[in-house]
Amino acid sequence: MKTLLLAIVQLIYLLSCQQNKIKQPSRTIREEKGEGNLGAIHIIPLGKVRKDLIEDVIDGLQSFYHQEIIVESTALLTEDLLAPSRTRYNANEILNKFNSTKNILIITEKDISTFKGVKQPEKFYNAPVKGITKEWGIFGLGLRPGNVCVISAFEKRLGKNSTPKLLKERLQKIAIHELGHNKGLEHCNKNTECLMHAADGSIKQVDNEKLFFCEDCRKILGI
Ligand SMILES: [Zn+2]
Ligand SMILES: [Zn+2]
Repeated sequence: MKTLLLAIVQLIYLLSCQQNKIKQPSRTIREEKGEGNLGAIHIIPLGKVRKDLIEDVIDGLQSFYHQEIIVESTALLTEDLLAPSRTRYNANEILNKFNSTKNILIITEKDISTFKGVKQPEKFYNAPVKGITKEWGIFGLGLRPGNVCVISAFEKRLGKNSTPKLLKERLQKIAIHELGHNKGLEHCNKNTECLMHAADGSIKQVDNEKLFFCEDCRKILGI
């Protein structure tokens, strides 16, 4: 509980991943998981997304979370989701728009961003915040705990120095990591190879992680 409280007030800004935290200190992670986290995972492609990338994500999720996976129809990349730069999409806005009582994983091939230096919200925030304009490109963003996360397969970010095999692995890692946040996991400092580890948030660090959760993270998830 002490760790959870600490995590709630902690501000973590990382290149690869950011957690949007819902402040509910009176409840435990396990209670927060609720039914939503145990039902099916609904994948929503946001804009045009290659079929093989979606299949890679499904493969990755199935090996970790024994939940039904349903691919929903493609959602439109609408203007309201654009970040102020208008070259990226605002990950916070995406979470806000698609938040649901179901488990939702949004996947897009577009670049997504959040805002560096913005104080984390009580629940959500809608950028831009006064005086803060620096966009921070990210691989994924998920509520912790919550029911919605977004991952980006943007070629120039996730596909950097990559092969198709490596891109697949990276995408799977990001998806499993963000869903881990939804299920209540915070960043893990117990094991640098744990999927929830996020020391510097670089692609190198993603590559260093293995497709596994350390014992501590598994214990929290009950798997
Ligand atoms: Zn993270
Ligand atoms: Zn861990």
